[in-house]
Amino acid sequence: MKVVLLSGGVGGAKLAAGLHDVLDPGALTVIGNVGDDLEVLGLHVSPDLDSVLYALAGLNDGERGWGRAGETWNALASARAWGGEGWFMLGDLDIGLHLVRSQALRAGEPLSAVTARLVEAAGLATRLVPASDDRLRTFLVTPAGTLPFQEWFVARGHRDEVDALVFEGAREARPAPGVLDALAAADAIVIAPSNPYVSIHPILAVPGIREALATRAVRCVAVSPLVGGRAVRGPLDRMLTRMAGGTTPAHVTNCYEDLLDALVIDRADAPGAGEVPVVVADTLMTDREAARRVALTTLEAAS
Ligand code: GDP
Ligand code: CA
Repeated sequence: MKVVLLSGGVGGAKLAAGLHDVLDPGALTVIGNVGDDLEVLGLHVSPDLDSVLYALAGLNDGERGWGRAGETWNALASARAWGGEGWFMLGDLDIGLHLVRSQALRAGEPLSAVTARLVEAAGLATRLVPASDDRLRTFLVTPAGTLPFQEWFVARGHRDEVDALVFEGAREARPAPGVLDALAAADAIVIAPSNPYVSIHPILAVPGIREALATRAVRCVAVSPLVGGRAVRGPLDRMLTRMAGGTTPAHVTNCYEDLLDALVIDRADAPGAGEVPVVVADTLMTDREAARRVALTTLEAAS
């Protein structure tokens, strides 16, 4: 069974790891968000692609929730001490990856090609493809003004309420090589329990990707990122309340317009499901075994 997963960072990475474990080797393609990408200290950082890569390879820090396990922070401390920017957390191990990617991009290699090399270096059969090789950047329209994604999320701790999103460059962006082929060949399409607004919508904003989902011949299932109407972490519940008017399964489903055949929701959200086609499960992925269980339920819902 060939499966395509649309994924953001940490929430998506957990399901990516679960699907990777339960599917045949090579059966999973993850299409990753690049709207959060940034240049910091001269390095190109792709936070969402890296969260997926680290989770698949078992290198992620489960406790902190992002970045690599066993991380140290000497390079960043040194950069700060020399007057360099230090607001974006980059660990020493993490920087090694950013050096390799930045060098390749500077030499003219597309993001999808260097990402494929990184996945291969990690010894993974799963494919990880950025939604686009072209520049696409997420901006948040807030009462404090229109902010670049990482300024809103990291520098300001996502404290500003969000009224709308802008995906700069999306209209001109093309799907990266392999994206549309993977969608056309898929036996099922899964949308990860990622933040719909900042992780999945920028993927769908790349011309051709939403159309591929809308005209698919297979099932498309999303896993809700809410547990008990609350985000497991991050600002999604506040964003949904403000922009969609609530945090029930219907509010999550409506984020995907008419693209979904079903929404996998947590048991805690079942009482508010109403008319929405849902599959009820325990969706909190506290460890990799839990992620495999959610993956199996999701595949069943997608078959
Ligand atoms: P980011 O790019 O790192 O912010 O990560 P994503 O957009 O992929 O995921 C963020 C979302 O993941 C948040 O809205 C969380 O509620 C959700 N999330 C995190 N862990 C879990 C989990 O174990 N289960 C479910 N259902 N959602 C989760
Ligand atoms: Ca992200």
